[in-house]
Amino acid sequence: MSSKVLTQFLQANLQDLKDKGLYNEIDPLESANGPVITIDGRELINLSSNNYLGLATDPRLKEAAIEAIQTYGVGAGAVRTINGTLKLHVELEETLARFKNTEAAIAYQSGFNCNMAAISAVMDKNDAILSDELNHASIIDGCRLSKAKIIRFNHSDMDDLRQKAKEATQSGLYNKVMVITDGVFSMDGDIANLPEIVKIAEEFDLITYVDDAHGSGVLGNGAGTVKHFGLSDKVDFQIGTLSKAIGVVGGYVAGKRELIDWLKVRSRPFLFSTALTPGDVAAAKKAIEILMDSSELQQKLWDNANYLKKGLKQLGFDIGDSETPITPCIIGNEVQTQQFSKRLNEEGVYAKAIVFPTVPRGTGRVRNMPTAAHTKEMLDRVLEIYGKVGKEMGII
Ligand SMILES: *Cc1c(COP(=O)(O)O)cnc(C)c1O
Repeated sequence: MSSKVLTQFLQANLQDLKDKGLYNEIDPLESANGPVITIDGRELINLSSNNYLGLATDPRLKEAAIEAIQTYGVGAGAVRTINGTLKLHVELEETLARFKNTEAAIAYQSGFNCNMAAISAVMDKNDAILSDELNHASIIDGCRLSKAKIIRFNHSDMDDLRQKAKEATQSGLYNKVMVITDGVFSMDGDIANLPEIVKIAEEFDLITYVDDAHGSGVLGNGAGTVKHFGLSDKVDFQIGTLSKAIGVVGGYVAGKRELIDWLKVRSRPFLFSTALTPGDVAAAKKAIEILMDSSELQQKLWDNANYLKKGLKQLGFDIGDSETPITPCIIGNEVQTQQFSKRLNEEGVYAKAIVFPTVPRGTGRVRNMPTAAHTKEMLDRVLEIYGKVGKEMGII
């Protein structure tokens, strides 16, 4: 028999979410997560993945994974420090360090895990963290886990950051102060003002931490936002994920050798959770090699993104001020946004509605993630459908 308290809690809260239209029904894909996906037997043009470069289904990655599985099997067998470190893990980390232009790197099982691991390995209750108010949930949770004082600054507001950095460092209350930001903010597609953040950090001796989950593979000739601004030797923690543009799964920190050595002895997901599987590691390494070798996929991604943005703008949609391929189509009203996404789906486009509380009230949007794998024909079809639904609903 299950607990009455639990049953009441679940039923009441699930119903509450459903009443408010905030309960998310998950659609299982019957196909690979490519530019076209199959759901319920219907083919849809997919504008909702983070598979920016189409690498999730790239034959070169599949081949690398299959080969690694043939050699090493499907599981790493243990945590990294016991005997789960395969030669492959070390090779991946060396490749990541070259990719990010740092002395060393450490891989984790996911980007989320990486933020759980890295922040609390260095920060504790005698420290403070300056955190952009729009930082990703995993950064927020990682900060909480560290027990450091969390001081939020207004989104990309450098005056606010400077003021709070000054207060925190001059208060005498904290041993260390860190500033943490996303490299690219995933809801609006804007880029963090890293040159100014680094300047403020130098002024007040802050530890710098940039989570570039949406920038790697996209900006800085593929190496990400930090490289984009030429700051590779000025950011202490460069966090990335292997699950978005890289197309596989996993996360990493790139930085100075001493930092990585410390994380290997002090970060708990590294010490207490089984290592990434051989197939994942080999595929991720292959992806990074492809990125370092050629900018063809990034070029294609940006071409497609610019094409889609131009088309949506010409149709009369509000696409915000994104500086990256992330292309929000801002509708405003929450109910209308959901309805818009539903109509797109019925017409053959899979683009999810994002509404409060993920974004501020009244700024509901359908978020489009064009990728290198889309063809011009697919994007033309998308624009046609956007035009049709937009007119039908009186949005354009
Ligand atoms: C997606 C994302 C993560 C989580 O990465 P996973 O590898 O999917 O766990 C972490 N940080 C940011 C900023 C992200 O956008």
